[in-house]
Amino acid sequence: IADGGSGTGHKDNKVHMGREKADRATRDQVLDRRTEAIIESMVRKELISELQGVISTGKEANVYAAPLHTYDDDEGTHTGTLYRAAKIYKTSILSFVDRERYITGEHRFRNGGHKGNNRKMVKKWAEKEFRNLQRLNRAGLACPYPIQLKANVLLMEFLGDGEGHAYPRLRDVELEGTDDDDIAQQWRALYIQLLGLVRRLYQVCRLVHADLSEYNILYHERVLYIIDVSQSVGHDHPQTYDFLRMDLHNIGAFFRRKGVDTLRDRTVFEFATA
Ligand code: ADP
Ligand code: MN
Repeated sequence: IADGGSGTGHKDNKVHMGREKADRATRDQVLDRRTEAIIESMVRKELISELQGVISTGKEANVYAAPLHTYDDDEGTHTGTLYRAAKIYKTSILSFVDRERYITGEHRFRNGGHKGNNRKMVKKWAEKEFRNLQRLNRAGLACPYPIQLKANVLLMEFLGDGEGHAYPRLRDVELEGTDDDDIAQQWRALYIQLLGLVRRLYQVCRLVHADLSEYNILYHERVLYIIDVSQSVGHDHPQTYDFLRMDLHNIGAFFRRKGVDTLRDRTVFEFATA
């Protein structure tokens, strides 16, 4: 984790313009001053050139597309832009306090609602997601590559195209195929792929996602990408098995709706853990 704010600042046109746009984006989304400063330091270090459109506004975090630079083909014809994704955890709400139980294993209100404590807690969540993404990457699981973490700002690989469009969530995927049978086969293959991912997550990363559903999986060209792992828990957590059963239940329900003849809960649980 690099420290922020020590860059000298570049005065060339591209980065300078990026900074102005970044300022605008942060203003529009009403990010607090410290978060703005972190974004500015990331721009100065040329990790991103600006904060662009918001991809998602969630309860606990917003996700932004952050371009770095354009890339050309051999003829110098513009072919796209290298994007990164910036997940910015909100520092001003209390709802995430509930998530504390994922860490402690119990449902306790440990926070008096002071802003200073919120910051610490949010930082803890961002750190957890960053480290979990590292674990997933080391295990070779398809997920965003974590690039940098600074307080409540997590910069990671952008899962999407050169135009800033993120890959669809599994929830929104409409598979194309030669006929209904082909599409049914593809859904079944994705189900099997996902069971393999959950198993490797458990066995190799020694993690349970704990919020796994069609909303936290992105899809591109037959590959499933796991995202949103801030609440994932290790094997030492007292509710590991409960979370795993819940994850497997969600997955099963989704693929059944897609017409897949899913395996029994017991069977998939044993597959993942044994
Ligand atoms: P939340 O805690 O708000 O659910 P997520 O990590 O699930 O946060 O991200 C919310 C949405 O942002 C995702 O559904 C996805 O559309 C988009 N997103 C998150 N990470 C990335 C990424 N690395 N690349 C592209 N899109 C992403
Ligand atoms: Mn999510």
